[in-house]
Amino acid sequence: MEKCYFCKGNMIKKKIKHLHKWGEKYILFENLEVEVCKQCGEVYLSPETLYLIDKKTKEEIKPKRTIAVPVVAL
Ligand SMILES: [Zn+2]
Repeated sequence: MEKCYFCKGNMIKKKIKHLHKWGEKYILFENLEVEVCKQCGEVYLSPETLYLIDKKTKEEIKPKRTIAVPVVAL
């Protein structure tokens, strides 16, 4: 993508972490390549990336490591 859909700002490629929720399951994706708008910070995932997230979420995966997530009820 050349320009941001919302503000027409310039895009930069970035690697981020993304916590993906699938039902009651959460998967933390690391080294996810996305495009971020320099101006408003909107994050864009490519169709390929979305496909990979979907695929990894649904199949049995061997996680690189597992982290504990604190749960707090308010
Ligand atoms: Zn923008």
